[in-house]
Amino acid sequence: MTIDTTASPDAPTAPHGTPGARALAAALEQFDAAAAYLGLDPGLRDVLRVPQREFVVRFPVKLDDGSVRVHTGYRVQHNVSRGPAKGGLRYHPQVDLDDVRALAMWMTWKCALVDVPFGGAKGGVSCDPRTMSPKELEAVTRRFATEIEPIIGPDSDIPAPDAGTTAQVMAWIMDTVSMHRGYSVPGVVTGKPVSIGGSAGRADATGQGIVYTIEHAARRLGFGLDGATVAVQGFGNVGEAAARLLHEAGARVVAITDVGGGVMSADGLDVAALGRRFAELGSVAGAPDTEPIDNETLFGLEVDVLVLAALEGQVTAANAGRVRARILAEGANGPTDPSADPILHAAGVSVIPDILCNAGGVIVSYFEWAQNRAALAWTREEVNGRLRSQILSAADAVWQRAAAERIPPRLAAHAIAVERVADATRLRGLYP
Ligand code: GLU
Repeated sequence: MTIDTTASPDAPTAPHGTPGARALAAALEQFDAAAAYLGLDPGLRDVLRVPQREFVVRFPVKLDDGSVRVHTGYRVQHNVSRGPAKGGLRYHPQVDLDDVRALAMWMTWKCALVDVPFGGAKGGVSCDPRTMSPKELEAVTRRFATEIEPIIGPDSDIPAPDAGTTAQVMAWIMDTVSMHRGYSVPGVVTGKPVSIGGSAGRADATGQGIVYTIEHAARRLGFGLDGATVAVQGFGNVGEAAARLLHEAGARVVAITDVGGGVMSADGLDVAALGRRFAELGSVAGAPDTEPIDNETLFGLEVDVLVLAALEGQVTAANAGRVRARILAEGANGPTDPSADPILHAAGVSVIPDILCNAGGVIVSYFEWAQNRAALAWTREEVNGRLRSQILSAADAVWQRAAAERIPPRLAAHAIAVERVADATRLRGLYP
C-alpha cells in the first residue's frame, strides 16, 4: 500500500514540555523503531503513526458550591483494523490530547500483542478526582458520557477504568447510555461492578496479569516469587492489586510509594494494612512500623522486582542508572522513557514491557465484553485460568522473538503487535 504522505492528516503535534507531549514522543519513538526494524511500507507506517479519530469535548458541570466549571474531555481512537476501539478513561490533571494520543496508540499494540479482537483507544478528562465530591464526580461522568456517546458503543468503542476512574464511574457511564437508549447496554463499558454485568476477576486483572508475567520472567532468570523482594511505585487500581497479589504469592514487598509519599520496611510491609490505610486516608505515607521513602530512592533499591504502576515517563536517562532490580515490571503505560532503555539493557535489567505486563486488564475486559454479548457469567477461577494462558502465550511469543532475533523484549513486543495491526490494515485495504 502506498499513500501520498503530503495528503495525510496532520501528524500529532511536535514534542514540547508537557508530560503528555513526552509520552507521545515516547510512543512515536517506540513505533518508529518497530516500523524501521520490520521495514514497514512507508504508506502503512503513515497510517499507523497517527490516530484515526480524535474527539475533544468541552462541557460545563455545576459544583457543589453552585459555581460552574467547564471541563475538557477527550476520546482518541488510534486504530480499529482489528476490531472495535478499546481502552480506558483517565481522570487526571495531566490528561491532555497528546497524553491520550500516546495512550491510545499503546492500546492498539497491547490488544494486538495479547490477541484480543480490538483496536486501541483512550480517553479522559483533565480534572483531579481527589478534590471532587462523589456528586461532582458523577456529574462530570454523566455529562462526559453524554458528550462521547456518539462514538462509543459495544460494537464501536468500549471504555474501561484507568487512572482516576473506578467501577462506579463505569456504572454511571453504562447507566447514562442505557437511559438515553431506553434499555440496558452493559457492553458499552467494561470494568463495571459485577452486579451489573461486570466480570469476576476484572478489578484485580491488571495486577494479576502483572504477577503472571513477573512469575514467567523470574522463572527464566532462575528464581521464584516465594521470598523474592519487591518494590512498587503507585498504589492505585493497579499498584495495590499487584502488591497484594505478589505478597499473597510469597514475595516480600519492601517498599511502596503513592501520590502522598512512600513507606519502606526491609522485613516486608503489611500490604493488607496499607490497603486499608490508603482507602481511608488516600496515602500509605506515615504508616506505623515503616520508614519514609521517595520515588527516586525506591527506583534504586536492590530488589528482585521493581514494579512501576504509576504514570508515564518515570524512569529516564537521568535516573535509569540507579535501577538495581533484576526485573522491571511495567504495570503502568509508558513508565520507562525510551532514553532509559539502553541504560537498563546494558545493566542487565530484564524489562517486562508495558504492552505485555499490564495487559491483564484489557484481556479480562475482553472476557467481560464477551460474557455480556453471550449473557453468561464465568467464575473467577475460569477468568483467571483464561487470563493466565492468554497473557503467557503472548509472553512466550515476546521472549522467543527477542531471543531468536537478539533484540530487546520491548522491540520484540512492538514488532509482533505492529506486524499484526499492519497485516489487518493491509488486508482491509483502503476505502473507498
Ligand atoms: N486502562 C487499562 C489499560 O490501560 C484497561 C483498558 C481496557 O480494559 O479497556 O490497559
